[in-house]
Amino acid sequence: FLSILHVEKSFGSTRVVQDFNLDVKAGEFVSFLGPSGCGKTTVLRMVAGFEEPSAGAIVVGGKDITRLRPNQRNIGMVFQAYALFPNLTVAQNIGFGLKVAGASRADIDKRVAEMLALISLPQMADRYPYQLSGGQQQRIALARALAPKPKLLLLDEPLSALDAKVRVSLREEIRAIQKSLGITTVFVTHDQEEALSISDRIAVMYGGRAEQVGTPFEIYNRPQTKFVANFVGTLN
Ligand code: ATP
Repeated sequence: FLSILHVEKSFGSTRVVQDFNLDVKAGEFVSFLGPSGCGKTTVLRMVAGFEEPSAGAIVVGGKDITRLRPNQRNIGMVFQAYALFPNLTVAQNIGFGLKVAGASRADIDKRVAEMLALISLPQMADRYPYQLSGGQQQRIALARALAPKPKLLLLDEPLSALDAKVRVSLREEIRAIQKSLGITTVFVTHDQEEALSISDRIAVMYGGRAEQVGTPFEIYNRPQTKFVANFVGTLN
């Protein structure tokens, strides 16, 4: 459903992504796992349209989107933390994309209510982000990303700013919501345990390349490179 084909990215003379290839099936949950600086976020930003690949193509549902602007891609994204609009209520945050797209008041209200139910925060509609916990804010960010019914969901370290307990419960909730909607999802993390527990497949990245792509079982039990063995073997 999502094909990343021979994608490269250089900033100046530094190549940070090289010949990156990946096919993500419809409804699949795939993680990019790797250490800081390996290029995970850069690949995700190219899929979202925030960075233009230096070479290669990105295809979604059979359509080449490589040159489309972010708002033409119908992709939902959740960032590391606290990317909600601070001066808008929860309901206004969730409805933001629909409003920009010109939806009617009634349609926006209906969709916002559905999203609040989906993330189990129906009573929070009129609060402001500063009145919410980090975990609640990230659930709102997820609802905001999903409200316009995107074809693809991109999650860039959405749990990394949260404390350990919230991180585990929220990752389970994210996975349950993803499965219930059947939405194709790419999740970026540097946390091995997180990737192993949440993913259908994992692309382990190093030096701007996918070192190995496989199921959590394959990655954990049959690492194909020294890097994968060492990185996945350092579970804490
Ligand atoms: P992290 O988990 O720390 O975000 P990452 O794996 O997501 O790491 P990227 O953010 O994709 O890594 O960065 C990959 C490399 O590209 C890094 O060395 C980074 O410094 C460099 N880089 C990213 N964006 C830019 C930019 N706009 N200009 C120059 N270099 C950049």
